[in-house]
Order: sequence, then structure tokens, then C-alpha cells
Amino acid sequence: MSGLLFNPKTYNPTHLDEESARQLLALVDFFETKGKAKLKDEYHAAQWYTDFMEFIAKENLFSNVAIPAEVGALDEVKHPGAAWDLRRINDLNEILGFYSLDHWYAWQVTVLGLGPVWTSSNTKAKALVANLLKEGGIFGFGLSEQTHGADIYSTDMIVRPNPDGEGWLASGPKYYIGNGNEAARLAVFGKFSDDDPERPGEYVFFLADPKAPQYELQKNVVHGTMYVSAFELHDYPVTEDDILHTGKPAWDAALAAINVGKVNLGWASTGIAEHSFYEALDHAYNRVLFDKRVTDFTHVKRILADAYSRLIGMKLYAPRSADYFRSSTPEDRRFLLFNPITKMKVTMEGERVIDLLWDVIAARGFEKDTYFEQAVHHIRALPKLEGTVHVNLALVLKFLPQYLGAAAGFGSDHPEIHARMDHKDDEYLFKQGSASGLSQIGFHNPKPAFERFKDLPNVAIFIEQMTAFGQLIATQAPTKEQSDDLDFLLSIGQLFTLVVYAQLILESAALAIDDAPGGKRETSVSDMSGLTEAHIDRVFQVYVRDFSEYALSLAGQPTATNEQREGAQGLIRHAHRDQAAEDVFYSEVIAQADAYKMNP
Ligand SMILES: Cc1cc2nc3c(=O)[nH]c(=O)nc-3n(C[C@H](O)[C@H](O)[C@H](O)COP(=O)(O)OP(=O)(O)OC[C@H]3O[C@@H](n4cnc5c(N)ncnc54)[C@H](O)[C@@H]3O)c2cc1C
Repeated sequence: MSGLLFNPKTYNPTHLDEESARQLLALVDFFETKGKAKLKDEYHAAQWYTDFMEFIAKENLFSNVAIPAEVGALDEVKHPGAAWDLRRINDLNEILGFYSLDHWYAWQVTVLGLGPVWTSSNTKAKALVANLLKEGGIFGFGLSEQTHGADIYSTDMIVRPNPDGEGWLASGPKYYIGNGNEAARLAVFGKFSDDDPERPGEYVFFLADPKAPQYELQKNVVHGTMYVSAFELHDYPVTEDDILHTGKPAWDAALAAINVGKVNLGWASTGIAEHSFYEALDHAYNRVLFDKRVTDFTHVKRILADAYSRLIGMKLYAPRSADYFRSSTPEDRRFLLFNPITKMKVTMEGERVIDLLWDVIAARGFEKDTYFEQAVHHIRALPKLEGTVHVNLALVLKFLPQYLGAAAGFGSDHPEIHARMDHKDDEYLFKQGSASGLSQIGFHNPKPAFERFKDLPNVAIFIEQMTAFGQLIATQAPTKEQSDDLDFLLSIGQLFTLVVYAQLILESAALAIDDAPGGKRETSVSDMSGLTEAHIDRVFQVYVRDFSEYALSLAGQPTATNEQREGAQGLIRHAHRDQAAEDVFYSEVIAQADAYKMNP
């Protein structure tokens, strides 16, 4: 059986357009030529990656993938073939995560910074930013402030009328803003002052140039090759040409940019976990203790098989979620449930993979010459950025009633979404419109996805658990007091998230295994043609255990009623384990021991 992971040595992006394929192979070559020793030296030196900036500019990497067709078609831009095409963007995220999250971050905050520009109706600003991108510019997203954290309703960035002339003057601090040292422009979120004649107290997004004298770069708040800035604007002059959005659209633009950017975290997390998997497995396989390979200890076998299973799940969920995102329309906004799960669940799974691997390689994971040593640091960041796990769980819970309705046969009549491997401009991403109305979004019935694999023992057990969970919610719904108890709700959110996660993994698996009407998905950043039902049963062995773990946590909630406790305990099941199947699965894990090593 072939491995299902991304392997730079065999990466063959024939599924991409010629130019993107060339660029991504050049990106792999950039890191492999640098080699692991230099990458790690730079990581420890925490110096800005000038060579990476030169590479981006020389290869036109960001301008190739990050200008939507509509902007590329502007007379002032003239960028033929421009498209925001998630298929190649997803590959880019996974490759960057695989080598260095520090480098990925420059791309990620560029995406966030472009979001409010591409959603704006300010054509001058769009043309300016697109042309700066073509010159190799990077961008940033100035939303967060030190005092306000996740409370993005509050801002101390105030834009007041210019007392000496046209326009406005912006003053205020921003914190945790990526690329604030070198960005060609930053999209900055603030508020008009209460004495503004036209828009008193309204939100505003505007472009700021870090080279302006009124821009004070204070520091990099992290130790790393990436730059996470603290900056302050002092009477920064804002003209009509700099204004991207005002009022509610400014708020919607912030959320739309995050919707576009947040999924990138899942892909990056997968890349980190894959590289770590190769490195850890290689070490364990070649290490002999008490006359046996470390990979021959029974607990190590279980741990590595679990890590590989979790990775397969991550690699199936994210592309399926992307299918929905790429197919979204004003009538079909199901991605608003699926995207936060790519962001929150895939990244949490990435953390679990690293934790599992670290238990296997122990002290080696601290050594400064390993990729793993940076991975343990980076993997922690992803669940916490762009909305913490809690914020995303709270968001996901808004969809629970409609989802349960769909599972009971009262879902929406959406068209079936096939594997989206086409080269296209994903234009709806920047036409999302209002961020409200989430609890009205309808879903398709999730049951057929599970039915397709119901003969697999662990999927069958999972179906029992999920059915019992649906009954628990229907018969023992949270009381009024519990609806104010976020801790209680979040433990329901974990169970619900796992159900949706499992559903999309099964939909994705069917697309890789079956002759689906819209065509199989065999290739993305890695070759999925080797995926079998045996893989899926092993993956669900892990999720049956997870479901039981979350159920126990719900039963232990201090405010749970006796009936809820009993119902939650009733969700606990043992996973099925067949030793012969486990041995075959493990032989696939071990076969990857020498499959990839980064150039020294
Ligand atoms: C390396 C790095 C890079 C970053 N880059 C950028 C960037 O480029 N641009 C940018 O604008 N921001 C950026 N950020 C900021 C990041 O998005 C914030 O960290 C994030 O929004 C959360 O804010 P906080 O960490 O201050 O947590 P806090 O807001 O202080 O949250 C504290 C706790 O309260 C919980 N909580 C808060 N609100 C809720 C809620 N509504 N529901 C449930 N729980 C809640 C949180 O889960 C958390 O446990 C970056 C941060 C880091 C660390």
C-alpha cells in the first residue's frame, strides 16, 4: 500500500495549471536547497527571511495565486489569467506548513490583508494593491489590539475628521499584526470618531502604508523569523482613496477575510504534522533499545497507528470542506459550518498528532537540529489564531439545530457537491455579503455519508454513538441556565463538531474510493488513490474513542442533570479492533520510515 501523505520528493502537481505547478515545485526546491541545518539556524536566529521575500518577488508567487479574476481584469492591473483558485492555494498552505510555519505566516497574513481589499468596491485601492502584489509586495491585517483580544467589537483605533483639511486622521494602537514591518499596505480596522459628520461611531477599514512617518513600528512581539508587529498610528492621514469599507460592511469584511483565511490554518497544521511524522518515524524505526526497534513496542505501534489515522482524517476533511467553500453561493452557505471546523478541529488534531509523536521520540524532540523542535512550538499556535478553539466552537453551535433538522429529514435541498478539482476563480469568497443569518443556514442530510460505510465495524459503532447523541439533545436539551453556561455548551460543541468532522471525512473518502458522478479525487497535494475502506475503519477506531472521551466530559459537567449524565454516559462505546487488520495498517505506517528526509 502506498502512503497517503505529502512527500516533497514525489510531489507531482499535474492537477494544477502549468505555472502554479512550476512555482510550487520551485518552492519545494527553495526549502530543499536551503536544507534543514540552515532552516533551523535561521529559525533560532529569528531573523526576518529576506531570501524568502526575494523568492516570492522573483517567482511572482503571491501575485499568481492571490489576485482574483475580477481584479486582474481591471485596466489598471491587466493580469491575464488571474484567479483566486483554492485548489493551488491549499497546496501552497500545506507545503509552507510542511517546511516552516514562520514562512507560511507571511503568506497567511497577506491573505487576511487582501480580504478587505478584494471585498471592497474601491477600485483604486484594488488596483493599487494588485500592482503592489505584482511587484512582490506582502500585506497584513490590522484587526487585533492588545487590550481587546477576541472582543473585536471594541477598538481604540479612532479615525477623526482632519481639522486642517480633507479626509481624516487615524490614531491608535494595533497588536499582533503580521508583516507590520515590511507590508506594502495594511488593511486596518477602526472606528470613526463620534463627531464625524457623516458616519459618527461607525466601523471603518482603511489602507495604511507602514512607510509613512505617522506609522510607528514598535516591536516584533514574538521571537521568530516571522514578524508579528505592535504598531501605533499617530494622526495618520486617511483619504477617501484609502477607505475600503464603512459601517456594517466593514464588520462583514473583517469576518469575510477571516472566513477566507482561517481554513489555511488547517492545511498548514497538516503540513507540520506530516513532516513531523516522517522525522519521528524515521528516528523511532532506526533506534534500537533492549535489542528491538522502538517501533516494535506494542504501545508505540498503537501510538503511531493513531497518529497516522488522525493525519488521514485531517487530509480527508480539509479538501471536502474546500469543495463546499468553492461551491458556495448566496443560497448555499454551508461552508460557514465546515470552515470553522477546518480551522479548529483540523488544527487540534494536528496538535494531537504531534503529542503522540513526541511520546515516541521523547528527548529527540527537544534537539535543536530537528524539524520537530520547531513543530512542537508552531503546532500550538494554529488552534489559537483567528479565533480561539472556544470562539469557533461557540460559532459551530449556532448551526446545531438546523443540522439536527437535516439529519431528521428536514434539510435543505442543496445540489450535491462533487470533488472540486477544477481550475477556477473562487469568486464568491469575496462576495460573501452580510455575516448574519447563520442560524438559518440549512444543511443536507448527513446520514447517507455514514450509510455508505456502515458495514465498517467502527463506523457502525460511531453511528450508534451519534444517533444516541441526537436523541440526547432532542430529549434532554440544555436548560435555560445551561444555555448561559459556556463550559457546558462547549462540551456539547465538541461532540457536535466530531459528528460533522466524521461526516465530511466519509464524504471525502467516498470521493476518493468510489466512481463518483463528478469524478474521483485521487490527487491533491498528495496521492489519495491508495485510500481503502480499511483505512477508514482504522480512522474511525480513533473517533469512537474520542466520542467516548467527549461524552465522559459532558457527563462530568457540574451543571448536568442526572438524566443528561446518564444520557452522556450512554454514548460511551468500545472501539472495534481486529489484530490482523491492525498489523496490515501498521505495516503501511512502518513502510514510510525512510520515505522522506529533508536535505541536510
Ligand atoms: C502569532 C500571532 C499572530 C497573530 N496575527 C494576527 C494578525 O496578523 N492580525 C490580527 O488582527 N490578529 C492577529 N493575531 C491575534 C489573534 O487573532 C488573537 O490572538 C485572537 O483573536 C485571540 O485573542 P487573544 O489571544 O488575545 O485571546 P483573548 O481574547 O484574551 O481570549 C482569552 C480567553 O477567552 C476566550 N474567549 C474570548 N472570547 C470568547 C467568546 N466570544 N466565546 C468563547 N470564548 C471566548 C478565549 O477562547 C480565551 O480562552 C495574532 C496572534 C498571534 C499569537
